[in-house]
Amino acid sequence: PSARPYPARVDVAIIGSGPAGATYARILSELSPEASIAIFEAGPTISDPPGSHVKNIASVEDREAAQRRSEGKVSAVPTGGDLAEYARDVARPVRPGTFLLDDGWQQPGEAGLPGLAFSSNVGGMAAHWTGACPRPGGSERIAFLPDMNELLTEAERLLSVSAEALADAPLADLVRSRLSAALDGGRAPGRQVQPMPLAVRRTDDGRFIWSGADVVFGDETRNNPRAQLFDESVVVRVLTAGNEVSGVRVRDDKTGDEHEIAARYVVVAADALRGPQLLFASGIRPEALGRYLNDQPQIVHAVRLTGVGDDTPAASSRDTTITAQSGVSWVPFTDEQPFHGQVMQLDASPVPISGDVIPGSIVGLGWFCAKDLQASDRVEFSEDTTDAYGLPAMNIHYTFTERDEQTLSAARESVVAAARSLGEPLGEEPLTFPAGASLHYQGTLRMGTTNDGTAVCDPTGQVWDVRGLFVAGNGVIPTPTACNPTLTGVALAVAGARHIAESINTTSTEK
Ligand code: FAD
Repeated sequence: PSARPYPARVDVAIIGSGPAGATYARILSELSPEASIAIFEAGPTISDPPGSHVKNIASVEDREAAQRRSEGKVSAVPTGGDLAEYARDVARPVRPGTFLLDDGWQQPGEAGLPGLAFSSNVGGMAAHWTGACPRPGGSERIAFLPDMNELLTEAERLLSVSAEALADAPLADLVRSRLSAALDGGRAPGRQVQPMPLAVRRTDDGRFIWSGADVVFGDETRNNPRAQLFDESVVVRVLTAGNEVSGVRVRDDKTGDEHEIAARYVVVAADALRGPQLLFASGIRPEALGRYLNDQPQIVHAVRLTGVGDDTPAASSRDTTITAQSGVSWVPFTDEQPFHGQVMQLDASPVPISGDVIPGSIVGLGWFCAKDLQASDRVEFSEDTTDAYGLPAMNIHYTFTERDEQTLSAARESVVAAARSLGEPLGEEPLTFPAGASLHYQGTLRMGTTNDGTAVCDPTGQVWDVRGLFVAGNGVIPTPTACNPTLTGVALAVAGARHIAESINTTSTEK
């Protein structure tokens, strides 16, 4: 392959093309159209438009090929195997489109993160996600951000979030009314059981289009002649001069050649594990880097809805995914009940059941818990060992506290009550998923108001003491949220992107 046309310099270099990186590209395209932008993505382009969700790919074969191509360089993916089979390792579950951390996911005597996973493709994990976009509540919210609601509204616009798309699914009302009767007592208005806001839109002919990073990029980025996306381009170093960022070093994974690109601003949106990895590799090592790592411990249960007739109308959607039948319901987090519930139809029963199953009548309940934060829960990087991308190898330190055990047992009780309200629970007990399976990793690049060793960046996402270097994504979220974090991660990226746009607009751009 010939050398790629990497620019010599840009105003803004963005690392990672998931929703967080895409947010920076979009907001900058809207607010600073004169600014030159380069987005570097380690993985390949797997969908069209770039970053779009694989569920929008009509052919099952093409969809599975796109999932395989997202699974990085390291995963021991069985070839030719059945998809369901390959995702069924209970000890270390792996979802299609993601790959596990091969080594270092557990230290002796610790819980570790057996389910810790990544996606490497244009669009990141959001080419594979479920699209649940609830707003954080109570202590999930970031108290020091006065404009959080406005940022969340903007994030909903970028991700095209709606609670309406599946709200009229044939069994949705039934599911919600039973959950409400069981769980709404004592809940504040707005935090009661309700349809889950989802990043999806419905076409006039009833199809669902799931939002990926393509929706966040939008035509504003795609039509911006100054914005360029480079796939299979691994950023191996953030370059600095004194206390200021000066550019990035990129390895073209098609040729192996390395290139230096000067940049006034660098945005590391490379997920909550690989973001800190890149800073570490670059010698940028604030005390809090990689610490306060938190995943959302997850309890799952399944239930067969009772009292639904086989005359239940089929969902009007022609979508092959069948979430349309019973919708997706949301049991919001509260400080009293510090977990977040997502109730949705399962494609198939997790346990064998006899007799005919009415479509949409097997419902899964997933309760995500807020983790008790500890500085000792962290990703540590090796000084002398590298991973398959040539970046410092990771070692995860992760344990549960007594408070975590209490939260988990309260979540178990709550999920059982919810399941009973819906019908016949399947299986004796709810399942506790291996840690890391939530795919919601936070805290490793956390935001704070002072540079006191417990935060990596300021409230705009700018890394303390490195001017022009921004971090983005779920790793920036300082609170241990239980709700799906992408909406919040995107909201924080909006704030950072606006900050860069403002400073670019008051100075000149690179021509
Ligand atoms: P990512 O989407 O992970 O993107 C980061 C990108 O950076 C990757 O493409 C990676 O290849 C790239 N990168 C990393 N290092 C480098 C480097 N050195 N150089 C260049 N590029 C690099 N979240 C929700 O909120 N709701 C849900 O319902 C939900 N469901 C999910 C279901 C599944 C099956 C999966 C896989 C995820 C789900 N998530 C959900 C999580 C959600 O997808 C992530 O929170 C979101 O994608 C994070 O966005 P991001 O941009 O920060 O990171």
